[in-house]
Amino acid sequence: MITLDDSIKNLTRINSRYWKKLEKLGIFTVRNLLLHFPFRYEDYSEIIPIAEIRIGEMATIIGKIEKIKNICSWKKRMSITEVLVSDNTGKIPIIWFNQPYLADNLAPGKEIRLSGKLSSGKKGVYFSSPAWEFSQREPTNTGRLVPIYPETEGLSSRWFRWQIRNVLKLNLKFKDPIPENLLKKLNLPDLQKSILYAHFPKNQNQYMLAQKRTAFEEMFLMQLKASQIKASSEKEHSAKIPFDEKLIKNFTFSLPFKLTNAQRKASFEILKDLEKSRPMNRLLNGDVGSGKTIVAAIASLQTAKTGFQVALMAPTEILAFQHFQNISRLFSNHDFSIALFTNSYHQLNSETKINRSILLKKIKSGEIDLIIGTHSLIQKDVYFQKLALIIIDEQHRFGVSQRSYLQQKTREINDGIRGKIPHFLTMTATPIPRTLALAFFGNLDLSILDEMPKNRKKIITEIVTYGQRNKIYNFIRSEIKKGRQCFVILPLVEDSKFLTEIKAAVSEHQRLSEEIFPDLKIGLVHGKLKSSEKEEVMKKFSAKELDILVATAVVEVGIDIPNATVMIIEDADRFGLSQLHQFRGRIGRGEHQSYCFLFTSSNSIMAKKRLQVLAESQDGFVVAEKDLQLRGPGEFFGSRQSGLPDIAMENLTNVKLIRIAREEAQNILSKDPGLKMYPWLKNALQKFDENVHLE
Ligand code: ADP
Ligand code: MG
Repeated sequence: MITLDDSIKNLTRINSRYWKKLEKLGIFTVRNLLLHFPFRYEDYSEIIPIAEIRIGEMATIIGKIEKIKNICSWKKRMSITEVLVSDNTGKIPIIWFNQPYLADNLAPGKEIRLSGKLSSGKKGVYFSSPAWEFSQREPTNTGRLVPIYPETEGLSSRWFRWQIRNVLKLNLKFKDPIPENLLKKLNLPDLQKSILYAHFPKNQNQYMLAQKRTAFEEMFLMQLKASQIKASSEKEHSAKIPFDEKLIKNFTFSLPFKLTNAQRKASFEILKDLEKSRPMNRLLNGDVGSGKTIVAAIASLQTAKTGFQVALMAPTEILAFQHFQNISRLFSNHDFSIALFTNSYHQLNSETKINRSILLKKIKSGEIDLIIGTHSLIQKDVYFQKLALIIIDEQHRFGVSQRSYLQQKTREINDGIRGKIPHFLTMTATPIPRTLALAFFGNLDLSILDEMPKNRKKIITEIVTYGQRNKIYNFIRSEIKKGRQCFVILPLVEDSKFLTEIKAAVSEHQRLSEEIFPDLKIGLVHGKLKSSEKEEVMKKFSAKELDILVATAVVEVGIDIPNATVMIIEDADRFGLSQLHQFRGRIGRGEHQSYCFLFTSSNSIMAKKRLQVLAESQDGFVVAEKDLQLRGPGEFFGSRQSGLPDIAMENLTNVKLIRIAREEAQNILSKDPGLKMYPWLKNALQKFDENVHLE
């Protein structure tokens, strides 16, 4: 007896040579196969008499084979199979190219059903390479709404249609994770029906219902997960950190600038959270340069002044170092100690070097108020005395477990605030449209910095063609003469061609160093370098020892090189808008006017229109929203990265569906937090947990 959770290897009809190919599409189990939904359908449902078919139209006919002829055309190097088919209204020739084996299957007198487009040539009208099957077989590839599947080499839609038909004949038991009353309430088909509707729809409405159900299921699971995380965090206790208004006011007055309204609002939201005895779990989402560091500093100040410790974790040493410098400067008038703790830096209070083990002792004794570091902070021998706030910069660069480690560990150890866990603030510089944030970060509270400091200069952004190369190179030269620096960003090549990308980067570096700018110092970073090597190059660039930095998409996020004013991005149309905007955020950080040149050889109006968004807007949220509209959530977020199926991804902007999923998830959990009454839902949630990564 086959079940949905069995491996596809248990399906006797699937030959072992297909296993690897299926795995490539993420299909390991029977369930995966049945949930491999078509992405579109060809409507071949209407069967018409031969006499009524019209040129240029899609049609399905049923007829008897009259004649078969195989022709080999040596000149064109192909074989042609010509078949004459008739029904009682007329006759029509059919032509297939390069499928000589067809003649072995087809024989005069047999009746076939075929679907395709009618063409016209010198000899009259004919069907060109239509889909076909014998008419006594169930309509699978013809004569219905024929599904088109995501394919891979050796696994065609035709293959999927037959295999799925076979599997559905096995009388599988479908345990629906979505409760029946909920399906009724939302007018959605159950699991079994929706699988049938997706692969063998009788009409458009059926497959749309199947898609909607699948999308809803994913969102429902996502929101259940988020609600569970949230609920369990609400059971935890954290240190109450009272909001000292005077302290914060004095600090902000001491700054050389006025906070933006967005910074003020976010700081207030955070300070209010810190007052509570349950842990804050907040995401601070703000574009590059929107001033997240100050907000983090305000939270740190309040926490440290109340007598607790703060840990600030950044993804790279160089970023941690930069935070250490900036924050030390911000707090130069405050008497608390700040340490930098990474693998290669151990410093205390404005750059005094200190022995690692002494520093660890000071952290453990609670002597140090604010500890800035990298992954080094989650090493086993790091102990805090009274850690009450964890801040994570560039959160997406850390794994989920890395992010929660400190929080969990702190609870377990016998520190000054035993049994309590620290408040948690994570920051991201990727502007996330609100709709996606709702879907993906349902377990976090959100603060958004959607307003840039006033003094920002606009980065002049231009779309340029390769004909303008020399002009741009001359411009770079003149900027470098003025003492500025330049980034050259190379396009991302698909994963499988990873080495090609490196090769392209290496050869572009060579070309620029030897042919274009032999007199300049040019560095190179790409994904194949170790992170220490990458950091080394970045440090050199930051120290102005390099004029130009050639980089693949790995270029460090967050690092500040105010002297870099020019960026050229090769084949810009290959990147998503949000990513281009991220790159561009590396420049325009200093007092000098900055320039971003987007090279494209694409003539497509769509590509130009996309890039034009960047030329016109500097606002990361606007760019992200446009990016989402133009490419859809799947591309925007990278479905492989999140583990969500495409259909669910496509619905992530469906705010209404997400809201319903959220309400229903909260509803069901409030009545039955352990999902005891819903074993199949619980089971599905467990699987979801293994495959999909929420933040
Ligand atoms: P990000 O959000 O990318 O981390 P930062 O916190 O590094 O941005 O801030 C970028 C720069 O803007 C810093 O030099 C910071 O001092 C400055 N800055 C932050 N807030 C303001 C403000 N309200 N007005 C002017 N400059 C600001
Ligand atoms: Mg930052």
